[in-house]
Amino acid sequence: MRLTILGSGTNIHPTRAASGYLVRTDHTILLDFGPRTLANLLKTGMNRHRITHILFSHYHADHFSDFITYFFDAMIYTKYQGGTRPPLTVIGPRGTKKFFQTLFATLPGFTHAPFAVHFKEVSDRAFAIGNTTVIPRTVTHTQNLHCLGYRIEYGGKALAYSGDSQYCDSLVRLCGDVDLAVLDCSFPASRPSPVHLHAGQCGEVAKEAGIGRLVLSHLYPITDRYNVREQAGEAFGGKIEVARDLMSIKL
Ligand SMILES: [Zn+2]
Ligand SMILES: [Zn+2]
Repeated sequence: MRLTILGSGTNIHPTRAASGYLVRTDHTILLDFGPRTLANLLKTGMNRHRITHILFSHYHADHFSDFITYFFDAMIYTKYQGGTRPPLTVIGPRGTKKFFQTLFATLPGFTHAPFAVHFKEVSDRAFAIGNTTVIPRTVTHTQNLHCLGYRIEYGGKALAYSGDSQYCDSLVRLCGDVDLAVLDCSFPASRPSPVHLHAGQCGEVAKEAGIGRLVLSHLYPITDRYNVREQAGEAFGGKIEVARDLMSIKL
């Protein structure tokens, strides 16, 4: 399994794209598709038409908006440029089907795709994509919004992605014993937010879950001014890295 970070920042950030992660197993999977991550996907040199599954944690714009550009391109490519692509499955939390129905009915050029498009709402139940196991888990982010973290297992390795999350037991369970966890480290410990983890809490989750390696991501611009690695390291003694766009990690 290989993880490539397409975006390690948030909605508006001067140097980082927002949330997006490319995961390569026996399938090519995207976790979230925030603004500017599509440009980074192109920079990886991979064929964008090979993506078969997009897993959304939630639909705050910083996790979603490049999907619109991506899908419009896929429509033009297959309708007018003679291109073909495999079916696309879009997976997300409660409300996913209604969200995309509304979107596709509203945006010009989004209906009658020449390739199969499937929408799937998931909650706290494992499912398979080929030989890849995906375990979504409901995490606590903002009130009344169903948000998911994802655990991906393939080839004897496990990766966890928090999505956007506060500190919560379900996040610790999601990350239990994984080789690598990518956590929402929106803020430094000295500037906590009620709806995101801060760096100190990322370290606590990593320690409680017994993970192998921690990647701090979803950084707000202000967070780059602090030593979040050190803050997370107060609780967690394992390897900690601050995410960078286009950083690629083999598990
Ligand atoms: Zn969010
Ligand atoms: Zn976010």
